[in-house]
Order: sequence, then C-alpha cells, then structure tokens
Amino acid sequence: MSEYQIETKCVQSGYRPGNGEPRQIPIIQSTTFKYETSAAMGRLFDLEDSGYFYTRLQNPTNDYVAAKIADMEGGTAGMLTSSGQAANFFSVFNIASQGDHIVACATIYGGTFNLFNVTMRKMGIDFTFVSPDATEEELDAAFKPNTKAVFGETIANPALTVLDFEKFANAAHAHGVPLIVDNTFATPVNCRPFEFGADIVTHSTTKYMDGHGAGVGGAIVDSGKFDWMAHADKFPGLTTPDESYHGITYAEKFGLGGAFITKATAQLMRDFGSIQSPQNAFLLNLGLESLHCRMKQHCANGLALARFLKDSPKVEWVSYPSLPGDRYYDRAMKYMPGGSCGVVSFGVKGSREDAEAFMGRLKVFAIETHVADARSCCLHPASSTHRQLTEQELVDCGISGNLVRMSCGLENTEDLIRDVEQALG
Ligand SMILES: *Cc1c(COP(=O)(O)O)cnc(C)c1O
Repeated sequence: MSEYQIETKCVQSGYRPGNGEPRQIPIIQSTTFKYETSAAMGRLFDLEDSGYFYTRLQNPTNDYVAAKIADMEGGTAGMLTSSGQAANFFSVFNIASQGDHIVACATIYGGTFNLFNVTMRKMGIDFTFVSPDATEEELDAAFKPNTKAVFGETIANPALTVLDFEKFANAAHAHGVPLIVDNTFATPVNCRPFEFGADIVTHSTTKYMDGHGAGVGGAIVDSGKFDWMAHADKFPGLTTPDESYHGITYAEKFGLGGAFITKATAQLMRDFGSIQSPQNAFLLNLGLESLHCRMKQHCANGLALARFLKDSPKVEWVSYPSLPGDRYYDRAMKYMPGGSCGVVSFGVKGSREDAEAFMGRLKVFAIETHVADARSCCLHPASSTHRQLTEQELVDCGISGNLVRMSCGLENTEDLIRDVEQALG
C-alpha cells in the first residue's frame, strides 16, 4: 500500500484478505501452531522458513497490525510489543549491550528516562543526555567511541520540545550510528521521522494509536535504511553469526530491510516475551482505522486551548508547538506543518498547590496518568509521573512545579475551553 496516502494506509494497510476471507482482522487467539513434521518446525526455528510456532515470539494478528504501522511510517518491517516501554527498551538493547553508550535527548518521557538512566545503566549501558537545543558542537561532544545510537522524541512528553531531526540525524550518521525516534505524540499522521533522517521509530501505541485508553502496547518500525554492514564493527549482534540462532548473521540473511526486526523478534522477544496480546493488537487496529480523523480533532482542540491559555491572565506560560510564538513553532512547522498533537502544557500562575487546586476544579478533564485518548484528561507530572526525579533532573527535562499537562480529547472545543476557564477561576 506504499503508493497510497496516510489516510488510506490507516484504514487498509497490513491485513489484505483474499477471496472469501474475513474482512476484519482475525484474532488468532492461539499460543501455538500445529505442524505435520518436526522437520517443518525445525526449519522455522532455523529461520529458514517463515511461519508461526509460539505466540511469545510472533502472532499473525500482531503481524498484520505491525505491518500497517510499518507502512504508515514508510518503513520496511515492524513489530508490536507489550508496551511503549518494551518498544523503547528493545529498540536500544537490540544494538547496545554492556559497555556501550547511547546519546539521548534530556527531555524524553519520564518512563523512558528512568528506563535508560536507572535500569539500563544497571545492565552496563551508559547514557549521555543532551539538551534538545544542543548546538552541533555540544552534540558532537556527547559521542564516545562506544556510542551505538542517538535517541529522541518527535514531540517530548510532557515537555513538548520538538526534535531537531536534521541536526540529530546528521550527528548520528556522522558517527556511524542510527537515530531512534519515539514518534508517539505526533503519530505518522502528523510526522514521519524516516522522511527526516530517522532510522528506527518506536511508539507507545497506548496513546493516540489505540486512542481509546483500551490497551497498553508498543511498536517498533525499521526504515531499512541504516547500513549495519558499513559499520560492522559497531554492531556485532547484527553483523556476526548469532550462536544462539544456529550461526545466522542477521544483516546478511535479512538485509537492510529485515535484519533489525528479525533480530529483535528472534532474540529479544524469544528471551523477554514482551509481546502484545492478539486481542490488544485487534483493538489497536480499530484505533488505527480512525487515527487520521481523530488526530485532526485532537489537534484542533489542542490549538484552541493553547490560544485561550496564552491570553489568560491566570496563566504564567503555555507550551504548544503549533502555537505561533511557541519556542518550537518553527521546528514544528518544518516537520509537522499539518498539526502536532492534542497535548498542551502550561504553568498555572502561582505555586504547585495552585496547579493542583486548578486540576481539582475541572469537570470535563479528568485527572489521569494518561494522555492522548478520546477523553480529555490532565496530570501534574511533578507529583506523579516524574515524582522520582530530583529537582535538578526535573529542571533538565523541562518540568516545573506548576506545570499541568492537558490532553485534549475528542469532545467539543467550546466545552473544553469553558471547563478550563471555570477551573482557573
Ligand atoms: C507513554 C509513553 C511511553 C511509554 O509507553 P507505555 O505504553 O506506557 O509503556 C513512551 N514514550 C512516550 C512518548 C510516551 O508518551
């Protein structure tokens, strides 16, 4: 479906039924798959034939949906994971191990920051966090001989900084490593990172893609553009034989387009089992079918709320990339001229307590540890998702005590603004 526009891909990519087959994606609710001979199954284990044998690694329902997301992003291969956290972990751990180093944007989502800065450090992987506005020189200085990737978010949650794709991709490629981009907030409807030099894209499908707050999930897509063999010494996991898989060299056997996802499936999914359930993949696909319609309304509501907040005397500052005058407006226009997301961050004039009191008065926006679904919600990151960070880490990732993150759902624009207006008092 690569010749079609994003709206058509949202609806029809991935599952293409044959004559007399179900129109809707079948939910293959089966842990295992039957074979006539052990030899046939053996060929699957050797990755000589493609097919399914155990849902801890792969399931047809998931693969239909992963293929749709890959097509939406303009990539060559994709996989679903049990969560966005698992997707981000796999995307890095697939090419970095003990003794390696990653350059990451400091404003990334708190959960990802903690995964990198605490848990993956325990695995012996080192991280350097750089400002989203780092100069070329500052970025360059962050690299080490053992750097294996650069990681950033298209639109950071909740700091709403916009990734400077050109600068980050150039720096990554100059050092012979891929740029991995978490595209959760923009979705491929608003931004396709591969068009701007990213090599691997990840998603928390839990957010807009599912769009209804129904299922936690993640996805990884490979652009098929990064030449692992050209930097073979940096990526031995892809460019030398995998003894745990009968001596297969992924980059040779599966080429640019397939190596990354095949390795992540054969090794990481096999060993960690962080797969999305076929039921959730089915629900995710229902969300994807309307993603292009919903993003329009999320963005319209986000922009209207940002405009209202900007003019309110009760508000200290507003951050929304598509709002003229925003610090990231020019970058947003360059990379996502059609819209950014439905999330707006702002500072209530006053203290942390004033921010919490404002939230308590909202009637349509609910207080939730969530963003980016059909129902409007809000969150005070400093006392919830980012609670584990130190004061300095909060500053570094762009979160102040009076920051409230508003996620505009699909409700009527005027109703949302009136709700915020009454709560500001
Ligand atoms: C929510 C989120 C994640 C984590 O995803 P889960 O599905 O909750 O595991 C990662 N990145 C971004 C940008 C997110 O918003």
